[in-house]
Amino acid sequence: MMEIVQNTTSGLITSNYYSKTITLKEEREAYILVPKHRLSLFPSLGQLFTLKTINKERIVKIEAIKCNCDGTETFHEHFLIRWTGLSEGDHIVIEQNVATPRQYKMVID
Ligand SMILES: [Zn+2]
Repeated sequence: MMEIVQNTTSGLITSNYYSKTITLKEEREAYILVPKHRLSLFPSLGQLFTLKTINKERIVKIEAIKCNCDGTETFHEHFLIRWTGLSEGDHIVIEQNVATPRQYKMVID
């Protein structure tokens, strides 16, 4: 996999893939968290896309959930992709298929 990193004038670093390590909360609640600043890699909220691993393929979407995990009374939003079968400590890489923008592949290791 080739890493494409661009430094824009705003100083933001963007790349064509999203990688993270799965937390216990993500394992238990069966989702992959996507931080707000990485949403641009994916179709808009609620738009369906295909996520494919080596042995399964599912139609998924970015969902927003309301949350007050910071302990305040003010709710904020988290963005996530529902996905079962991940374990805490799994490292995932989600990469968009450049030729087919609604298709993403996920490597888990
Ligand atoms: Zn929260």
